[in-house]
Amino acid sequence: MRLHRAAKATLPARFARLTRSQGPSIVRDQASATRLLEKAAAHSGVDLWKYVDEVRYGNFEYPSFSVQGRVRVIQIPTQISQSNKYEQLLTAAHEINHARIYDKFLKRLGYIRGHEEYWSVARNRGTQLYAREEVIVERTAQIQIRSVFEGKLSGSNLRRFIQAIDNSNEYIRDYRMRM
Ligand SMILES: [Zn+2]
Repeated sequence: MRLHRAAKATLPARFARLTRSQGPSIVRDQASATRLLEKAAAHSGVDLWKYVDEVRYGNFEYPSFSVQGRVRVIQIPTQISQSNKYEQLLTAAHEINHARIYDKFLKRLGYIRGHEEYWSVARNRGTQLYAREEVIVERTAQIQIRSVFEGKLSGSNLRRFIQAIDNSNEYIRDYRMRM
């Protein structure tokens, strides 16, 4: 369940494009949630639509990646941070990384077995394998976001960035203990 790291060579161009607007994007509907996910995918050097068919925004309990029928869905909840764009990007990159691991299962095992394996009870919420994937996708999301912003921020942006990374580290620590 290992992910490729973002291709370093493409980072400067991406950085210029992605940091044009510094404020957090307001995520309030399907279109803005989709823009956030596209931006997070660009940070990771991937095309969102290779791994995801649909983005939903609504009153969900938490952000998630799921496959409904054959449709790969990322759900973004209304409670997503509106004040911290690094938090937003980490959330989005985290779910995209789940979608990428699912894609790897399909590539490795074929559509039917890969799908069954990915969603098997051995990998349900609460299992060690689930915790392991949580650690992997969050760590990868953190690497992706850090590689774009670290060392380039100051003032309130830097404070928000550090806050987002602190939260991320806490999340990783929490799931590490369940592995
Ligand atoms: Zn997750």
